[in-house]
Amino acid sequence: MRWTVRRALRAAAALLPEGRRLPAGVWGPRHRAILALAAAQALAMFPLGLALDHRPGHVLPLVALAVLPLAAALPRRWSRAVRSAAATASLFATSAVLVDLTGGLIEAHFHFFVMVGVVALYQDWVPFGVGLGIVVLHHGVLGTFFPHSVYAHHDAVAHPWRWTLLHAGFVLAASCAHLASWRLNEQQGLHDALTGLANRTQLGEVLDRALADGGPTAVVLLDLDGFKSVNDARGSAAGDEVLRAVARRLRCDARAGDRVGRLDGDSFAVVLAGTDGANATRAAERFLTVVREPLSIGGQELTVQASAGVADRTTIGAQQCPEGGTAQLLRNADLALQRAKERGGDRAVTYAATMGRAAAERAHLLEDLNGVVERGELQVHYQATVELAGGATEGFEALLRWHHPVRGTVPPLEFVPLAESSGHIVAIGAWVLRTAVHQVARWSRSHGRPLTVGVNLSALQLADDEVVDVVAGALRDSGLPARQLTLEITESLLVDDFAGTAARLERLRELGVRIAIDDFGTGYSSLSYLRRLPVDIVKIDRSFVGDLTGGGSATTLVATIVELARSLGLDVIAEGVETEQQAGTLRALNCGLAQGYLYARPVSAEQVELAVAAPSTAGG
Ligand code: C2E
Ligand code: CA
Ligand code: CA
Repeated sequence: MRWTVRRALRAAAALLPEGRRLPAGVWGPRHRAILALAAAQALAMFPLGLALDHRPGHVLPLVALAVLPLAAALPRRWSRAVRSAAATASLFATSAVLVDLTGGLIEAHFHFFVMVGVVALYQDWVPFGVGLGIVVLHHGVLGTFFPHSVYAHHDAVAHPWRWTLLHAGFVLAASCAHLASWRLNEQQGLHDALTGLANRTQLGEVLDRALADGGPTAVVLLDLDGFKSVNDARGSAAGDEVLRAVARRLRCDARAGDRVGRLDGDSFAVVLAGTDGANATRAAERFLTVVREPLSIGGQELTVQASAGVADRTTIGAQQCPEGGTAQLLRNADLALQRAKERGGDRAVTYAATMGRAAAERAHLLEDLNGVVERGELQVHYQATVELAGGATEGFEALLRWHHPVRGTVPPLEFVPLAESSGHIVAIGAWVLRTAVHQVARWSRSHGRPLTVGVNLSALQLADDEVVDVVAGALRDSGLPARQLTLEITESLLVDDFAGTAARLERLRELGVRIAIDDFGTGYSSLSYLRRLPVDIVKIDRSFVGDLTGGGSATTLVATIVELARSLGLDVIAEGVETEQQAGTLRALNCGLAQGYLYARPVSAEQVELAVAAPSTAGG
């Protein structure tokens, strides 16, 4: 029996608006305001009763009836249901007292309906239930034993239950009107308009609740791979259609109790209450599979892929506060998602503590990057480029080094991406350029022959028109002839705003500097870029040079690149030459220049000078 009641209650609860429970920060202040109102109006009944010529002995018990329930509305450890019911009991008791003191005045009854509006602020069925109960008690039960008129209607005296039904009908209608308006508000404020999924706010609340419940809880973040290109190529209407389709699939695939939401743009999240990390990872794989199935958009077939990051509550340690826990859990899942993206996308990655440490480490490094130039912690190292035929030094590549006061030397592969994402690279890159150009200008003069210098440019530097002035200024101040400066750019840098980048490269080339494509062969459309861009040099990526040792396909590939470059009138530098055998193969393939540990490692300016002073050492 009890079990059936519980089941019925649960079924009724499922019909309630989703995400109905107000956040603590909203419920608390509302409850306090309602309590203040309840206390004030209950106490006001005393002077009112006296003013209406009632005896204090009659008024006092009535006031007590309205004040006493408030005692149950105060204790914070009691549930919301109890506290809101107690406050409601006080509000409605005051209505009954008011009716009694005014001798059944019609206007006094209106107070009751105002109170129905006030308790609607709880956005819960409980206060309405209490209101209904008071109606039944007042008109039905009390009316049966102590018949009293309603609205001075004597019919109410004769048929108390008819009047109970009538008033209960009013309360029910008012409650339904309030519930419907909450539901509408919720759908607008807590749902994503495009997909109808929960939005970020609601998902946060769902996660708060799941964490507060104390059971296993996991979250899967999903982000579509390359969604921007869908939007660019097919238009935003098609993009929206893709997002709606993905939303539908995720919702279908999610299990009962899982909650799917859209956070923004092309990123979705699923909260899995009652699920541990291992099962959440399996769920994430399943989500990726359903997303990957071909879509039909505007009659055309299309396939999208996504990356997923998974984290469960064990990754946030003994977080007590559910709100802080929610933010942490989402951050962890996001770190895992970033890792999935870094590994090429179309995969799910589960959060590991090392990711959190790496992120904290990055955050510290990022902070330390502020003012790094001014503090003099940066240094430029120089690695020689040599002529493969004779072994003579043709010039140098400038390679940035950071001597961190605490961490020691931080490799560029660690901090250059950080400096790029934070924008520091613009100032740092300008400093590298000036330093390297001045240095090589001095060496050229002291050697009495023109040495070249290659300086790496990042996307952010090249995205700004100012780069042309910075380069021109460095050349002018140092006196280095423009021909001796090579700016090295990578293909990936050309993906966004190809036309703008090509135009700036053209202006740089008009200054007389040369442009090299770095890491050649690792990007996508290498060949087409070569034809469309003002380029003078290709630097064959060291992964191909490393493979030369085994002969075979790598040799053919390098031969093809050299051939191609020659047919376009470009110079070729082979990067990462470490062995005589590689150098021999490259010479046989007619490659002109090389750079690598076989000839010289990147070293400081002082070490370059020392090497020059000692003629037997390579590198000068
Ligand atoms: P990169 O432009 O491809 O530079 C060549 C990298 O290959 C250098 O790493 C160099 O030390 C390494 N290398 C040279 N010869 C060999 C070899 O024989 N074997 C092996 N295994 N490696 C060799 P490094 O100095 O760690 O620089 C890494 C990357 O950091 C550079 O790759 C470049 O992308 C970036 N970077 C360095 N300095 C700057 C800079 O001033 N500005 C920008 N934007 N990026 C920079
Ligand atoms: Ca380079
Ligand atoms: Ca390179």
